Amino acid sequence: MDDEDCGIGNPVGLQGIGDNETEMVFPGTVLVSCGFAQVVSDWLLEDVAQAALHQMASPLVRVGSGPGYQCRRRNNLPDGKLSEHALGKALDLTHFEFSDGATVSIEEDWGKDTAKGRFLKEIHAAACKRFNTVLGPDADPNHRSHFHLDTGCHGRDCTYLICQ
Ligand SMILES: [Zn+2]
Repeated sequence: MDDEDCGIGNPVGLQGIGDNETEMVFPGTVLVSCGFAQVVSDWLLEDVAQAALHQMASPLVRVGSGPGYQCRRRNNLPDGKLSEHALGKALDLTHFEFSDGATVSIEEDWGKDTAKGRFLKEIHAAACKRFNTVLGPDADPNHRSHFHLDTGCHGRDCTYLICQ
């Protein structure tokens, strides 16, 4: 979409996230703002990596994600508000792959009382402490198969959070 409102002030392309103990890769380069990349990185390394060991007993090795940056309106409606994806402040996640070969899919495993379901609940709750907006399958049918995470501002002073 040719829209002058789209763009990222300080872009970074993420291939993966790692530290001394953990390394997780994305399926393709994730293009986001530097500030957003920091929030994603903290969440993955501090919260999601822990939940993987805790619920799945196996390290997380791949994070199934979308591309991050997309110049579009919310829910792809032509006259909608600009999506946080169009500013490099949003990421969609669909599934997670572990070193033992297990895969957790948001579409398949959300809401189930299984280790996979509990893994998703735990990382969703942790995301709500770091991102301003977290939308999953309980939010609406558009999010049946993914988590949408963004750091967009709600309300006058950006303190209003959405966690669904
Ligand atoms: Zn999204």
